[in-house]
Amino acid sequence: MESFDRWFRKFGIPDKVEPEKQPAEEELPTGIVKSDDGDYLALCCVCDRWYALRCELSEFDADTSYCGGSPRCCP
Ligand SMILES: [Zn+2]
Repeated sequence: MESFDRWFRKFGIPDKVEPEKQPAEEELPTGIVKSDDGDYLALCCVCDRWYALRCELSEFDADTSYCGGSPRCCP
């Protein structure tokens, strides 16, 4: 039995929509955001606040506290 998909193609109807023409968003690991200034912000796993990432993005470890031992960072 001919699939619905092939039946569609026979009539020249594209079976896929055009991919959106947007620049690919940079893939950031969970716990990292990029600020408007282009700086990376890391989510501290302990106090749940955002701090400037002080290392390379590739060195980011989501299980690390990134607030530099801030007094606010008490679980
Ligand atoms: Zn913290």
